[in-house]
Amino acid sequence: MTSYLASLNPEQRAAVTAPVGPVLVRAGAGSGKTRVLTLRIAYLIEQGAAPSSFLALTFTNKAAREMRERLRSLLGQRVRGLTTGTFHAICARILRAEIAGRIGSYTGDFTIYAADEQLQIAAEALSAVTVPRGASLLEPEELLRRISRAKSRLLTPRLAARFAGDPLDAYVAACYRRYQRALEQANALDFDDLILLTHRLFTEHPEVLEEYQERWRHILVDEYQDTDSSQHALVELLSRPYAGRPRSLFVVGDGMQSIYGFRNADHTIIGRFQHDFPEAQVVELRTNYRSRQSILDAAYAIIRHSKVVAPMALRAASQPGPGERIGARHAPAIQIFDARDARDEAEQIARCIGDLLRQGRRCREIAVLYRTRHMSRSFEQALRHARIPYSVRGSTGFYDRAVVRDALAYLRVINNPADNLSLTRIANTPARGLGAQALATLSAFAAQSGLPLSEALSHPEALDQLSPKAVSGARLLASLLARWRRYARTFTPDNLLGDVLETSGYMAALHERLSPEELPDARAHLQELVEAAGEHNTLSEFLQEVALLTSADDEDDERDQVQLLTIHAAKGLEWPIVFVAGLEEGTLPHERSLGTLEGVEEERRLCYVAITRAGERLYLSWAAGRVRGQQARPSRFLGEIEQYGRERAGRA
Ligand code: ATP
Ligand code: MG
Repeated sequence: MTSYLASLNPEQRAAVTAPVGPVLVRAGAGSGKTRVLTLRIAYLIEQGAAPSSFLALTFTNKAAREMRERLRSLLGQRVRGLTTGTFHAICARILRAEIAGRIGSYTGDFTIYAADEQLQIAAEALSAVTVPRGASLLEPEELLRRISRAKSRLLTPRLAARFAGDPLDAYVAACYRRYQRALEQANALDFDDLILLTHRLFTEHPEVLEEYQERWRHILVDEYQDTDSSQHALVELLSRPYAGRPRSLFVVGDGMQSIYGFRNADHTIIGRFQHDFPEAQVVELRTNYRSRQSILDAAYAIIRHSKVVAPMALRAASQPGPGERIGARHAPAIQIFDARDARDEAEQIARCIGDLLRQGRRCREIAVLYRTRHMSRSFEQALRHARIPYSVRGSTGFYDRAVVRDALAYLRVINNPADNLSLTRIANTPARGLGAQALATLSAFAAQSGLPLSEALSHPEALDQLSPKAVSGARLLASLLARWRRYARTFTPDNLLGDVLETSGYMAALHERLSPEELPDARAHLQELVEAAGEHNTLSEFLQEVALLTSADDEDDERDQVQLLTIHAAKGLEWPIVFVAGLEEGTLPHERSLGTLEGVEEERRLCYVAITRAGERLYLSWAAGRVRGQQARPSRFLGEIEQYGRERAGRA
């Protein structure tokens, strides 16, 4: 038997070696789901499958890289050719290659719009559609949530209008139509479109689907509990029996860890797997290889109260050692801190980490998890004071820096002439006479004549309406864009970016715009961006990579630092020592969730995910005065852990 099979328990081995068909591995945290999925690939390759016939979908790009690394050590160079990535990244790649001429007026150079660009387009759609009687004006954020929900269910604007049950729905559908049209005019897609349009491509063009079915004969999906309906539909399509071969679909997931309901993930999909695929084989894993038993007990104490997922108790693989009961005196696995406020909590955590380091633990063995991003600030401050190295995941903010965004906006307009939003951003940066008024005139002309803004820049009729200063600015920009688009065909992305920054006058203007203190930082950021661009062969490849970075992807794992991250970003990861902060009512569970059963349930699963990241030690903390002027109560989840501890002690 191949050696890695010997290292698996019997259920894991059954999953890895299951006959080809739909397979669901349903199991609790830390039971080896991701490991089994990886080894399934190795196993099928050893059985003769070609590496290029695999598509493995993971939750982050980082998880995909890790999977490749593990496979490389098992299989050597044979892993080349394997396709791994997130749903969004894979779909973006498919659409780049296939969208032109098949869906609307899109071309393969489309831009992927992120949240703030979406907001701008949503706001424009809202202002263009009259509010019908019986409906009230929506905020752009709310419109986007509704559009996203529709897209996650594969509803096009037309279908959304057809299924509209009341005036509000009809209003939303009208705004959705408008929003979608604006995106298409800008040759831009939002995140949900990546999935929706790939699905549409495959259903409207079966010959394209066949090509991909021919290539990807084995589909594997990690974290299946966090897929939404559109992703499930896509997986179903791609894995359909083809050319006499059975469906080869291998998914692993844990309903107890579904935490993306707020992004339309639907944890009931995994429960319906056997219904959707009656021939499915289902394997359950019950042994946890990550955590001490008392940590698993704490997780169970919380999840046992779930009203919507069937809770499953987990058994730790290793025998419980002494002092592993909750509250035991010596080296207890779990400790709870009470804090006055956020600062006190952070200082206690920093002190505790300092002690652990003095006992010989490494920084990289330690993670601090919290409910919302902004909570990182107090931990950063306390750790900085204590001189403990740390890194904050998902908020390096590199790509949010103004100079980086300016530079990217240049590249995006070069790559996609229809990208009006990016052009607006850089039209007068540096100043070239194209102020707000000139831009408004050009935009109005572009909208009327159905041209992209970048063509209006050199259109005689548009120029007629501008001041002489604006005319020369517009001409200059148009000629620069033409030059860079030519260069883009032969230059590498880093050389192109270097040229853009110099010839646009952006670098020179930076010296005037920024203070001497700010300047070195901005230059370093731009230099870093040039280097990042140098890692890619083409401009669109580089822009796509940037657009698809997820919050868990951007950290540097190699350094010995304490990790600070949100619970959401911690999914699938593990550390020997974990701090979960902010366990008070209003934070975890979050106050926004308190209104609905589904909301509180998702917080419960989130808390379960947080706790099950820990291997040896888990520290839980809460702060009474986190919000100034308010007294918070400890989280119900803390109460449940203590209650369960008492029940067990009573039984013992
Ligand atoms: P999560 O639900 O958090 O995503 P998971 O079910 O995917 O967890 P893995 O991350 O695959 O679990 O495994 C958890 C840990 O247990 C890893 O460190 C893994 O190497 C280890 N592990 C899994 N199976 C075994 C085994 N049979 N023997 C020893 N260690 C194992
Ligand atoms: Mg996993």
